[in-house]
Amino acid sequence: MTAAGTAAATDEVVTYRSPTYRVSPMPDTVTSPMSVRVTWHAEAPAAQTAHLTFDDGPSPVWTPKVLDILHRNDATATFFMLDEFIKGHPDVVAQVHVAGHEIGVHGGDHTDMTTLEPDALAKVLSETREAITSITGVAPTRMRPPYGRLDAPVLWSAHQAGLEEVVLWSHRTGGSRQEAQSVLDRLSSGMVILSHDGRSSVNDAELDAISWLLPQLRAKGFSVTRLPLGG
Ligand SMILES: [Zn+2]
Repeated sequence: MTAAGTAAATDEVVTYRSPTYRVSPMPDTVTSPMSVRVTWHAEAPAAQTAHLTFDDGPSPVWTPKVLDILHRNDATATFFMLDEFIKGHPDVVAQVHVAGHEIGVHGGDHTDMTTLEPDALAKVLSETREAITSITGVAPTRMRPPYGRLDAPVLWSAHQAGLEEVVLWSHRTGGSRQEAQSVLDRLSSGMVILSHDGRSSVNDAELDAISWLLPQLRAKGFSVTRLPLGG
């Protein structure tokens, strides 16, 4: 074996983690049931329904455009918001709420929650939840972690912050009509569709894809709504 070959063999990335790396804190003071639900796809309602969700707002540029598209299509949605933008744009948060949409928690900023200590994350989630509640008068019950990344400590933190459900997704609109077509190719009542209305995650192509998708869903007999009540 050459020297270079030996070096390559010993430089392999070690992906092993200790079994106790990132385990949940012990809920040792809890005496009643403690749980957080994780949802990829909601239960199919009686009528054909697609649940639309938007991450990374509020944005004074993109969120009003999304609200306009939803209004034109008689649709509602769930918006998972970041505290750093909620603080800067409380008027946009209020606009989303008044238009009848649900608001959930996406975190303080867009940090991967699995890199945050459980107590610190619980504080961030509580603060974001309170920021939304102080504007809308409604306390969010749902959270979506950035990148959809979560582990047991993240679930523990969500519970500590009073959240009941972590929502991932079963479909996504993507940034083109071709990608939005993939939603139509896999129609399923109760589907949860991921889209974006903030940060660098959204652009005109994604809004065009949503504008195109919503009437198509309607034509196929689907109504488009926020996540179901009681979640
Ligand atoms: Zn995000």
